[in-house]
Amino acid sequence: MRKLKSKYIIPFSGLSVGLHNFDFELNKTFIEFNNIEDILDISGKIDVELEKTSTFLKLNFTINAKAEVTCDRCTEPLWSNIEAKDLMIVKFGSEITEDEDSDMVILPHNANEIDVNHFIYELISLSLPSKRVHKESDCNSEVLEKLNTLTKRNEEKTIDPRWSALKNLEN
Ligand SMILES: [Zn+2]
Repeated sequence: MRKLKSKYIIPFSGLSVGLHNFDFELNKTFIEFNNIEDILDISGKIDVELEKTSTFLKLNFTINAKAEVTCDRCTEPLWSNIEAKDLMIVKFGSEITEDEDSDMVILPHNANEIDVNHFIYELISLSLPSKRVHKESDCNSEVLEKLNTLTKRNEEKTIDPRWSALKNLEN
């Protein structure tokens, strides 16, 4: 199966040595392309400042976006701001090594473009807040009430046998 090309391709072979800017849009197609399950929608911009030298490339990423995620408390959607910056260094060599912990990428000498989709994907994943909740008053109170009732019911169910065990002990 042919791998789909992402929308986040930076062609660098024709560029002169120096600084160049690339702008990308972030929207729902990014979620679909990457099969992201915990983001419902996304909207924003990615700015990449590329510095080309005779031996390597330096790519400075700036992401300004908002992502629609699910509230941990009431399970309704909520928009969360994503502001992220990161640097990627691209070097050229015959040995392609993928070092997961470093932001350095090695491309073959004859490469003329780089697909930065995965780099952006990781940067966004890392920038999402670990706790996703509305401001207290913005939560959907109806859903919260239902959830509370459900939790209470579940607690009663699980506590019941223990209570009866305790009662047996007391007797
Ligand atoms: Zn909420």
